[in-house]
Amino acid sequence: MGPIPRIPQTSMKLICPCCGETDIHPLLQTPAIPVNSCILRWSEQESLGFPRKVIDLVVCSDCGFFWNSTFNGSQLLYDTDYESTQMHSDFFRAYLEQTAVDWLNGLDSEPQSILEVGCGQGEFLAVLAEKTNATLQGFDPAFRLQDATSERVVADYLPEEPTAQFDLVMNRMTLEHIARPLDFVVNLRRWLAPGGTLITQVPNAERIIADQHVCELFYEHVNYFTKTSLVHLLERAGFKSNRVEITYDGQSLTVYSRLDPSKKPVTHSTVSGLENNLGASLARFSTDWNRILNDRLAKGREIWLWGTGSRATTFLAFACEHASVTGAVDINPMREGSYVLGTACRTFLPKALKGRQNLSIVVMNPIYKDEISKSLSALSVEAELLLVSDLQPQ
Ligand SMILES: [Zn+2]
Repeated sequence: MGPIPRIPQTSMKLICPCCGETDIHPLLQTPAIPVNSCILRWSEQESLGFPRKVIDLVVCSDCGFFWNSTFNGSQLLYDTDYESTQMHSDFFRAYLEQTAVDWLNGLDSEPQSILEVGCGQGEFLAVLAEKTNATLQGFDPAFRLQDATSERVVADYLPEEPTAQFDLVMNRMTLEHIARPLDFVVNLRRWLAPGGTLITQVPNAERIIADQHVCELFYEHVNYFTKTSLVHLLERAGFKSNRVEITYDGQSLTVYSRLDPSKKPVTHSTVSGLENNLGASLARFSTDWNRILNDRLAKGREIWLWGTGSRATTFLAFACEHASVTGAVDINPMREGSYVLGTACRTFLPKALKGRQNLSIVVMNPIYKDEISKSLSALSVEAELLLVSDLQPQ
């Protein structure tokens, strides 16, 4: 492995971990929000008392990367109470099936071995197992040892000393959680077999900026990658060929990386014109949402949330008075009876709404809007859907 620049452990001056430049500016500071958003808590007391911290976002003028400069992972939990699966959604399952097909087809040759780092409960590995004969291995500290997939997954963080090398190394929705992303990618490189491919998928921060999705700021997410910043990071880790794709209705950014140079020259997009107004949006968010929800309450409507994970945690922390929300719905039965972290807002399965009238439901991820409408229709629920994305302050 060639020499790889490392970020200093401590530095008075902030350095962008992606491009290495030092033109870093404050972007915004959030109110204190729960440090986790996918941990299950079963009493109001535990939920309301969950540790909170502010997010101090700073942005790199050169590549557009923004990150929480005061992130401290010491209170974060990634244990067996961490429940983030979306596999109960038919829409999400279909998306994951298609992702598996696309990723396998996107490789130059069929992999004999695949490693997924941050594999959750092994859902994606299980999907891949139906589509490839490659050996499959996963690492995730939040994995619950329970069933036949156990043999594939190690319930731990990825070690720094590789025990094997893999033709395909994947990290799906993981790198945004990592405080030292360059070191992490350098470690992934160690696990990659010669000629292999690394696939990295993260939330697409350009969409968060363009559409001002402040509900997609989470304490768990240290990093917010634009296309340019992620490619810079991968290049600094030694990957010379990086192919970018945007998927999931613009929500996901995926990069296929190889150590050998591409035959085609890679051109960088620049970030000029990508004006980041998240701070102004956040400042208006609470006022606007309280006006919207109070208007509904005055009309005798009941407020519910649909989705109880990360976005609901942020929404309730940033946006509204918790007392105005009756409850939250989630299709994941593992979440039934738990609380949206930091609040007394309890989680119910959709059937709890059966036959109810006059509801206003705030939808946390608009991509599920049609699926939610169908569920409500089947349960004879009369409800208006308020999409967080549509109601962003203009
Ligand atoms: Zn940068």
